[in-house]
Amino acid sequence: MGSGSNGGRRGEKAGRGCEKAGGRGVKSGLRRRAYLAGWRLTHRGTERTCPACETSVSRFAPFGVVQRPDAQCPACGSLERHRALWLYLRRRTDLLTGPLRVLAVAPDPYLERRARELPWDYLSIDVEPGKAMRTMSLTRLDLPDDDRDLLICYHVLEHITDDRAAMREMRRVLRPEGQAIVEVPLAGEETDEQFRDAPEAVRAERYGQPDHVRLYGRTDFLRRLGEAGLDAEEILVGDLFAGQVVAAALMPEERFFVARRSVGRAA
Ligand SMILES: [Zn+2]
Repeated sequence: MGSGSNGGRRGEKAGRGCEKAGGRGVKSGLRRRAYLAGWRLTHRGTERTCPACETSVSRFAPFGVVQRPDAQCPACGSLERHRALWLYLRRRTDLLTGPLRVLAVAPDPYLERRARELPWDYLSIDVEPGKAMRTMSLTRLDLPDDDRDLLICYHVLEHITDDRAAMREMRRVLRPEGQAIVEVPLAGEETDEQFRDAPEAVRAERYGQPDHVRLYGRTDFLRRLGEAGLDAEEILVGDLFAGQVVAAALMPEERFFVARRSVGRAA
């Protein structure tokens, strides 16, 4: 399967939007863990509390190829988007406590680690062998209909040429009451994919990474989900968790989508 035809993530490590917490983006493995342990010791305090692990410090550690200050929890390794996800799951759902059937698509190491600690029936997939529990494309899921209570799909769809097929598959494997939490890079209202087949250098320039095949606009993204039989609620982190933006060091401009199967539609 060619680059961009699935969840291929070769440009990942250079990317701003798709960096992997605990991946090779900044410092690798043991060195990073030692650095974070040291950070935790030298930044005692209560100004920040991680909603994922409840650890308090005076400030989170910097993270990113272009370093963002106050980004990574030194105790559990969560980044801004992970903390927003846990806040959502914890405060707006009962999904953290139930024995739910969860599918994570191309999860980063942080999510993979945390998910396995929860009472979930958890499956992760990636199109690249060895990166998740099973090797599978989101456009052709080897899973039965109505199979999953929760899908987590962060920064994947912008890599997939046939994203509509991927969205239909998401809808197909969701249980009637299930929800898919989805995040993609966004700019404006309409999607730009005119450079989908352009050389990687062009796509890196236009879409932020060489392996991105489009840059979604929010109106069009919601429309595409709708056409696949998914009704999505858009969540602006700064709106939903205004009181937590500083304490949990969130990105107030971050948006994610909570998609559910459209009522009365047999997609
Ligand atoms: Zn934490």
